[in-house]
Amino acid sequence: MRILQVSSELFPVLKTGGLADVAGALPAALGAQGCEVRALLPGFPAVCASLRHAQKVGRFTTPWGEAIEVVLGDLPGIGTAGQALKTYVLMAPGLYDRPGNPYHDSRHQPYADNHRRFAALGWGAAHLAYGLDAAWAPDLVHCHDWHAGLAPACMAFWQSPHRVPTLFTIHNLAYQGCFDASCFAELGLPSAAFGVDGLEFYGQVSFMKAALVYADHISTVSPTYAREIQTPEQGFGLDGLLRRRAAQLSGILNGVDASVWDPAHDPLLPHTFDARRLAGKALNKAALQAETGLNPLPDAPLFTLVGRLTEQKGLPLVLGGINELVQGGGQLLVLGSGDAALEQALAAQAQAHPGRMAVRLDYDEALAHRIFGGGDITLVPSRFEPCGLTQLYGLKYGSLPLVRRVGGLADTVVDTDLETLDKHSATGFVFDDFDSAPYQRALRMAFALYRRPADWSRVRQNGMRIASGWEQSAMQYRDLYASLTSPT
Ligand code: ADP
Repeated sequence: MRILQVSSELFPVLKTGGLADVAGALPAALGAQGCEVRALLPGFPAVCASLRHAQKVGRFTTPWGEAIEVVLGDLPGIGTAGQALKTYVLMAPGLYDRPGNPYHDSRHQPYADNHRRFAALGWGAAHLAYGLDAAWAPDLVHCHDWHAGLAPACMAFWQSPHRVPTLFTIHNLAYQGCFDASCFAELGLPSAAFGVDGLEFYGQVSFMKAALVYADHISTVSPTYAREIQTPEQGFGLDGLLRRRAAQLSGILNGVDASVWDPAHDPLLPHTFDARRLAGKALNKAALQAETGLNPLPDAPLFTLVGRLTEQKGLPLVLGGINELVQGGGQLLVLGSGDAALEQALAAQAQAHPGRMAVRLDYDEALAHRIFGGGDITLVPSRFEPCGLTQLYGLKYGSLPLVRRVGGLADTVVDTDLETLDKHSATGFVFDDFDSAPYQRALRMAFALYRRPADWSRVRQNGMRIASGWEQSAMQYRDLYASLTSPT
């Protein structure tokens, strides 16, 4: 089965969040399941700089009259054994050749022509689906997040004797790609598409809605999130549509790419370790404390958070719980960037608690590995969380996740109580309501367990031993592709 994977990010070439990890890991995992995956990416500077052996395969003209060259080349694979990934790239410097973040300028303003930048991605996918490359055409197009959301619409209206099915995966329903209605005229879609049964959303154009309406199947990155987005609380206005499409909506959990995230072989860790040999973990903690200016206290539980600094990620709870955490004898280390007010509040708290709290307002892939490798607890108290990857990295690196029971966090972490301890199923700490009291109760539970080294070690072992690779999920995607390419 030939699959064209369409996304705007792909690890290790370009990453702003979990989408890149998934787009980077899936092709190889699907390859092991007998799928031939090629990627399609916009020609962002980082993508063009990494592409090898590029050859022109064709060109197409966008609805607004811009000619775009499509090249095919190799992107570096992940890890030491990683195979190069055959990737189509849209060479459109006027749209993509801009420094920094792929979506917004240095003042965090979305680019004014984002509708064109990502409509081009949608049309590029449609052209590849319907013959742009005479040597290769996909059996199915798998689109990720709103950036690729126009592709199912472009393909639904394509005049062709055969239809190529589409799968659209929601990585985060909160980001929808909405644009002024005046943009619609540039998208090259029939006027009928701009209606309540099409991509019109409260008078705007929504790329996310385009995908939810026109894709043959919709998936999201955890079974719980697939249910939650059908409710008004978590549906971001699209829950009604998602309920109507419930028969074509499913959840497939993300995995952990062991060629990137494995404490036993991680070249980014000062000291490797595994579930049976944990000496390296303690050395990593000491190194991390020294590196970040935290007091060298081997017995202080080290709470960590790696992620986008947004309300979604539960930063208000973390900020509200700092006194409890520090007074309980813990330490807090945060790595992230995002909302300016949250950044300032965290920096101020770090100043107020020298040696006890440290903040790195940065995006630093290597430091993230060292944090999972040296930390004791991984905080993910999200308001909502489609899947979440950092709790999975925390599990694997022996840094117990403390999470809210929501989305993929609910699907991947088992709360510690006497029963789950006894059954060896406990892997972390889980609280329910997005409120300071339950969050702080979970903090106290973490402290209590930490004071019982035998129990702590048991829970850590449970988490580290979970098989969280991509194999199971890739098999589910493969089966889904098969059902869509040969419907009964
Ligand atoms: P989301 O996709 O919502 O941002 P996920 O937990 O699914 O959240 O994935 C986040 C990914 O980005 C993880 O690989 C995490 O380690 C990484 N990440 C987030 N912020 C940073 C940062 N500041 N530095 C390094 N890695 C980061």
